[in-house]
Amino acid sequence: MPVLRFDNVSKQYPGGHAALAEVSFAVDAGEMLFVTGRSGAGKSTLLKLIQLAERPSRGAVLFDERNLARVRGGAIAAHRRNVGVVYQNHQLLMDRSVADNVALPLVLRGIKRGDAGKRVRSILDKLGLAARERALPSQLSAGEQQRVGIARAVVAEPALLIADEPTGNLDPALSTEIMALLAALPERGTSVLVASHDLGLVKRMKKRVLVLDQGRLVDDIAPEDLVDE
Ligand code: ADP
Repeated sequence: MPVLRFDNVSKQYPGGHAALAEVSFAVDAGEMLFVTGRSGAGKSTLLKLIQLAERPSRGAVLFDERNLARVRGGAIAAHRRNVGVVYQNHQLLMDRSVADNVALPLVLRGIKRGDAGKRVRSILDKLGLAARERALPSQLSAGEQQRVGIARAVVAEPALLIADEPTGNLDPALSTEIMALLAALPERGTSVLVASHDLGLVKRMKKRVLVLDQGRLVDDIAPEDLVDE
């Protein structure tokens, strides 16, 4: 069963042209894929529909085969807990320690302090951040800050991890490192959807690639069909 499915989705912003036009695709549990396309192609809009930050104008977005159109009110927060998000600018709380930032999704789920602490330490360890748990985000390098953002997004083992230009502010070497973490880190079963305009980087990851052009899904490339640059 797909964890995520877009069924003929179109999105028009008020007064604007179509940000997405008749987009259909499905993502399996445990699958990693990229969505790429020029600036304005509709990548962010696609991710916003998954988080219920926007609603489609036509068509349906299904999560675990449940139509998100039916998810309203208090159920929206519950849905968002199933989707981990990595932001371009990490969006860390600057006055809280690394450990507190990563613990946040667990605290929001009401997980006990002791259990949360164990999971936070385990994930920070995997990301090579164990020695930095008491640091403030401002004391970290850009690459470390983004790794903390990834730790926070995956600590609660969401069904789906999404990232909008997660390497937008990083140099090429760090970008490759962060993409590799996104590919390797999620627990088995977590699907990962990454939006990036960096086609070269995306191709090197050898994963499925969705290509958007002016809101249309113009290509859906299997890893084996990716050509080396
Ligand atoms: P991308 O992430 O690929 O750069 P976006 O999804 O941000 O693309 O944008 C797709 C199109 O929708 C663009 O033409 C953009 O100007 C437009 N758009 C995005 N957000 C809004 C909004 N809140 N209101 C009006 N138009 C928007």
